[in-house]
Amino acid sequence: MKKFLSKLGILFALILMVVGLSACAKSSSGSSKPDVLAEDKKSETITWGVKADTKLFGLMDVKTNRIQGFEIDLAKAMTKQILGPKGKARFIQVTSQTRMPLLRNGNIDAIMATMTITPQRAEQVDFSRSYFDAGQAILVKNGSKIKNVHDLNYSGAVVLGVVGSNSVQNIKKFAPKAKVLQLTDYSQAFTALRSGQGQALTTDNGILYGMSVENPNYSVVGGTFTKEPYGIAVDKGQKPFLNAINSALTEVEKSGQYNKLIYKWFGNVKGFNLKGAYRQ
Ligand code: GLU
Repeated sequence: MKKFLSKLGILFALILMVVGLSACAKSSSGSSKPDVLAEDKKSETITWGVKADTKLFGLMDVKTNRIQGFEIDLAKAMTKQILGPKGKARFIQVTSQTRMPLLRNGNIDAIMATMTITPQRAEQVDFSRSYFDAGQAILVKNGSKIKNVHDLNYSGAVVLGVVGSNSVQNIKKFAPKAKVLQLTDYSQAFTALRSGQGQALTTDNGILYGMSVENPNYSVVGGTFTKEPYGIAVDKGQKPFLNAINSALTEVEKSGQYNKLIYKWFGNVKGFNLKGAYRQ
């Protein structure tokens, strides 16, 4: 009987170990990390890192104290796909600079924040396939002599951008003589443009359209000069979660929800290529 009991004890311990291990995913560094998808299913909540300074994508509405935008709506739709109708999307504000550290520290489960898929970033995080195709452009005051990015290539030119964005690196290739002034977020960068601290602000066209919708005295000029495919970033070693995100994106596209959201947020934006953004 004693023998039987001790065998039963060992079996029980083994089961516990297997259950424990399956709830953990190995991270690239080798340390065990919680399985984000399993935890989110348990809590029926996905915590998304989103922008709150970017009209059209993610902007804080000070009246309602809620963040609104295309990415917020897309994250909500994808959350329902992944977790079912009871699933809740929780939103944490990030900036271009804070999004990667917040993800890697486990403060958020995923980033959906105008983040371009780049090879350098893909060394640190895993990306979903692209959910929006942007391109870098410039915003200037109406009537400005600057008509495209090459017009900024003179010593004395100042281009405004945001820390942690790849735009501030890219611009150096297209206007190497210009000085780049980096602000902490897009609302500060726009304030700097308005107060004349630079001749142009550079980031993705969609973000700049958001600023010109609010401030019609400013326009996006010269077209795009890079390709910026936006991806949802998750921590390395979270394959089940990444697969669930990619499938949810496909479902949201197939059901027509994606195109509805594109129309809702970009339908009235002058210069935005609506048809080009639609997904079948
Ligand atoms: N898409 C660019 C990037 O990922 C610029 C937009 C942003 O700052 O989020 O850096």
